[in-house]
Amino acid sequence: MIYIWFRKDLRIEDNKALYMAEKTGQELKYIYIMDKNVLFDENPRRKKFILDRVKGLDDKLDGKLIIEEGNPIDIFRRFKKLEEFEIYFNRNYEPYEIERDKMVAAEFETHSFKDFVLHERDEILKSDGNPYKVFTAYYNKWKEKDKDIEYGVSKNAILDDFIENGVIKYETTRDYPNLDSTSKLSAYINCGAVSIRAVYYRAYEKYLDTKNEEILTFIKQLAWRDFFIQIMYHYPRAEKEAFITKYKNIKWENDMSKIEAWKKGETGFDFVDAGMKELNQTGYMHNRLRMLVASFLVKNLNVDWRIGEAYFREKLIDYDLALNNGGWQWSASTGVDSVPYFRIFNPKRQQERFDKDKGYINKYLKNNFTNGEIVDYNETRDNYKNKIKSMGEEK
Ligand SMILES: Cc1cc2nc3c(=O)[nH]c(=O)nc-3n(C[C@H](O)[C@H](O)[C@H](O)COP(=O)(O)OP(=O)(O)OC[C@H]3O[C@@H](n4cnc5c(N)ncnc54)[C@H](O)[C@@H]3O)c2cc1C
Repeated sequence: MIYIWFRKDLRIEDNKALYMAEKTGQELKYIYIMDKNVLFDENPRRKKFILDRVKGLDDKLDGKLIIEEGNPIDIFRRFKKLEEFEIYFNRNYEPYEIERDKMVAAEFETHSFKDFVLHERDEILKSDGNPYKVFTAYYNKWKEKDKDIEYGVSKNAILDDFIENGVIKYETTRDYPNLDSTSKLSAYINCGAVSIRAVYYRAYEKYLDTKNEEILTFIKQLAWRDFFIQIMYHYPRAEKEAFITKYKNIKWENDMSKIEAWKKGETGFDFVDAGMKELNQTGYMHNRLRMLVASFLVKNLNVDWRIGEAYFREKLIDYDLALNNGGWQWSASTGVDSVPYFRIFNPKRQQERFDKDKGYINKYLKNNFTNGEIVDYNETRDNYKNKIKSMGEEK
């Protein structure tokens, strides 16, 4: 008998572990374990989104999904008293997940598969066997490497619509938050309700059909995802500290009133505030705004990037440890292949470029403007540059 252990692969279509288990011809049982380390309570919107997908999965399995809550080891031990089984699952790559799976594999017969990413762990390495830390070099190899085939047809209305209408104008529209032109697939991809292979192949086939180069920019974003996931796998210390070692010692101001103003979207910088209101109201934030509000918190408000990272963890429906940490460390210039420390987004210029007619700002601020700006942009920008410069050049 085989247990299919669903985790971040909440679908029956194009699911590698399920496909491999079905091929054995053995009796199958299906299980999902509500594990507080993965499905944490601090972000109720994300929890609900995932549990809704679990419910959808159960429906597709005709109500046969066993749903348990607790520590996976304890649960499988309890089952072991009743019958013999093997466990099939798709691999995950966060530090906690790796430890959990090692412990499960030490006690039970397990079979694990690559499904959550297009290329994993040690598939894309430098010629000396070390992981890439520069995205472009990683990407050059990533795009040449054969991807796995799909394991069954995978259909999703949001993906269908994006491939039909959005992906051919992705490059030219993706930076304008009011156009709503990105795929909005992140939350589905992160819990596996949509297969990353399907996203890739649907976009790639469209590219072969149309030769439209904008589609390649979309595919490149899927490579960024793999890149950050493999960074967290190879360098788990990045979960807690600056990837660039010398930036572990930056002294932050961490002023509580500024942090609160940032969280509420009341800094007086309209574009930043609109981004934070989008996050608070919807559980999503456009990528352009994620980069801006992160830069602003760290470089203008002088706040430790981990405080912003933790706030996103509580609010984003698409929260993912590796991508959130990668995005924050990139924006804070403490990470691998980050934006240089002296590049500090100017909220007004960003708004003039990407929300010229204020459509996005008006949508989220509803003319509810605050009492002026909480810091002087130029002064805080220069202070930050001087602070980092005085730490010496990057190695
Ligand atoms: C500070 C910060 C925090 C972030 N936190 C998260 C997070 O917790 N979870 C998350 O899924 N993404 C995160 N991102 C990456 C990115 O902002 C989102 O993936 C994207 O905005 C989701 O919208 P979409 O699905 O419409 O993306 P699209 O533009 O349609 O991109 C398609 C897919 O490519 C991947 N992708 C896109 N941009 C990136 C990127 N910069 N890095 C890695 N993968 C990417 C995602 O899987 C996304 O769904 C973060 C970025 C920053 C700057």
